[in-house]
Amino acid sequence: MDRSKLYRRFRTLLIANRGEIACRVIRTARAMGLRTVAVYSEADRDAMHVALADEAVLLGPARARDSYLNVERLIEAARKTGAEAVHPGYGFLSENAEFAQACFDAGLVFVGPTAAMMTAMGSKSGSKALMEKAGVPLVPGYHGEAQDEATLAKAAEKVGFPVLVKASAGGGGRGMRIVRSAAELGPAIVSAKREAKAAFGDDRMLIEKYVDNPRHIEVQVIGDSHGNLLSLFERECTLQRRHQKVIEEAPSPTLNPAQRETVCAAARKAAGAVNYVGAGTIEFVSDGKDVFFIEMNTRLQVEHPVTELITGVDLVEWQLRVAFGEALPLKQDEIRLNGHAIEARVYAENPTKNFMPSVGKISTWRLPAETGGLRIDAGYREGDAVSPYYDAMLAKMIAWAPTRDVAIERLNRGLEDSDVRGIVTNIPFLSALITHPKVRANAIDTGFIERELAVLTSAAPAPGELELCAAVAAIVNDERKTAQNSPWHTFGWMPVGRRQRGFSFRVGHGPEHKITLNYGSGPSTLVIGERELAFAVVPKDGGFDLTLDGVKSQVAAVIDGHELYLRTRNGRFDLHWVDPFGGETEEQAGADKIAAPLPGTVVAVLAEEGASLEKGAPILTLEVMKMEQTLRAPYAGVLKSIKCKVGDIVQEGVELAVVEASGE
Ligand code: ADP
Ligand code: ADP
Ligand code: MG
Repeated sequence: MDRSKLYRRFRTLLIANRGEIACRVIRTARAMGLRTVAVYSEADRDAMHVALADEAVLLGPARARDSYLNVERLIEAARKTGAEAVHPGYGFLSENAEFAQACFDAGLVFVGPTAAMMTAMGSKSGSKALMEKAGVPLVPGYHGEAQDEATLAKAAEKVGFPVLVKASAGGGGRGMRIVRSAAELGPAIVSAKREAKAAFGDDRMLIEKYVDNPRHIEVQVIGDSHGNLLSLFERECTLQRRHQKVIEEAPSPTLNPAQRETVCAAARKAAGAVNYVGAGTIEFVSDGKDVFFIEMNTRLQVEHPVTELITGVDLVEWQLRVAFGEALPLKQDEIRLNGHAIEARVYAENPTKNFMPSVGKISTWRLPAETGGLRIDAGYREGDAVSPYYDAMLAKMIAWAPTRDVAIERLNRGLEDSDVRGIVTNIPFLSALITHPKVRANAIDTGFIERELAVLTSAAPAPGELELCAAVAAIVNDERKTAQNSPWHTFGWMPVGRRQRGFSFRVGHGPEHKITLNYGSGPSTLVIGERELAFAVVPKDGGFDLTLDGVKSQVAAVIDGHELYLRTRNGRFDLHWVDPFGGETEEQAGADKIAAPLPGTVVAVLAEEGASLEKGAPILTLEVMKMEQTLRAPYAGVLKSIKCKVGDIVQEGVELAVVEASGE
């Protein structure tokens, strides 16, 4: 086919995606002088990508299949706005050959490979057959057409257990089962097929040798329509949870230069097998010695920024230039590797509750400035809502430095300097992960997170002297700001005698920590147990400098009612200020409330208002991520009120019912 029909200059680009990737594509497109068109669903009217684009078109209801996955509406949106090209981002329709074809048929440039290339590479089985022919090393396995039980069982036997049963059309780690013995195979195939059918509409399976304790290594490639094809080094994406990447870095700290050249050459060979055009990734698993092809992703990947930071190439710019029909601007030996980059995926999810997605309004969104080797690709701002309809990734934080150790430090500092509230995020988990000694030492495999989960999600450290003093400083600082606007280190507003004020704090359901402030005439001091500490506070933006025992240190502080967030040199602390007037004790706090433990939907109300309940009697059932959870009476009593009805979508912590204890 005449490639000028496929790839040609354009001026208006429609971005068929949402969230951080839509924002990221808009940023480069804008810098290249293009007009940008966003698309959005009813849930995303106020989303950041809509605000950033020059124009925006409503696609339809929140559900992805009614909006972001609706090919007809997307083509219509392009027609209405005069868009000449479509960038699919990642996820959604980015690897959908029918969508690429529909764009072409509508006279639009699809920023990506041709539909034919996607079809050839889109199926894991098909691409493995191609790679076999091209001489790219594969994980041993079966990727044939026949799908009957006997064939699959024989193949698994031949490959040798453990094997991985994988959906040929799969993605995002779904439709995959590890099988360790022949007896487990039948049921695993049945359930993987069911999942694959539901997720991808295709239940064909392949069987692979399960590489034990593997690493995931992948190579960024990009080809143009003039036959040039480049590799841009590799990424290590071994830190995964449920086959989904969490941390990615470039280059891989595992490979030596010779291995690096081998894997990059294999990737060029793989992409060369289909004369690939556009940005793509060749994924491999490694047993620590050799690498084996597992699949090609025919799109830009979530983790592309780490490659950008070590090569200085803007991959979206190159994608657009390839789509214009230009030749790639550099030759292979002009692509240089500089330093080290590491990325963390920031999600709205709760690691201590099995990574349950967290939905709601982002009340605070404070991320550090993008300086000193830090880059932040965000799709959300303060005040934005995180809806339950889409992937819960909020942003990516990426750090670059000359060495891996410093890059990790910079990323950790960036994470610690972040304060996101209103929803629960995985930020503390990410910090714990990248500073784990085994991660620093690169002594990891894809099962690392699962094995270390208890350590990575363990409770926050108890607040020490510095944190308790900082907490008091934060409260008084805040009170003074609202009260009279005077700098509070001039603590002389009580002219007569010494006065005292007691404070008590706790972390979660931990023990109370008491501290007393002495003020009035003379310098103020803080007393913890037997120790009396002199201190000074100089307020500044977002916190204050606290001098304690002669050492000055920076403290970030945010107060939200009785919840305090502090960052000191010892890390982040979420403290609850136990209200001295509230008569609050740990047992009473919230004990008679029946609250949603997680965001979910009320699917059944099982008791009536006014009913007498035994301890443990069911009150209502919530569906949380397809799992039902019944909430029960915490003690015997009367059901005073039910504050929800069947069908309600409720947020974490919302009160759903009130039980009044029977006064025994
Ligand atoms: P990567 O290697 O780039 O992480 P994935 O296959 O995991 O590749 O998917 C890329 C991103 O797209 C992930 O964040 C994933 O959650 C998201 N994603 C995958 N499929 C869909 C889909 N159908 N709709 C929306 N997002 C999706
Ligand atoms: P997806 O399309 O969901 O990304 P992949 O085939 O890329 O599917 O596999 C996802 C992850 O599963 C890989 O990153 C790797 O951690 C693990 N994996 C895949 N194949 C194997 C294998 N043969 N042995 C061990 N782990 C594997
Ligand atoms: Mg993959």
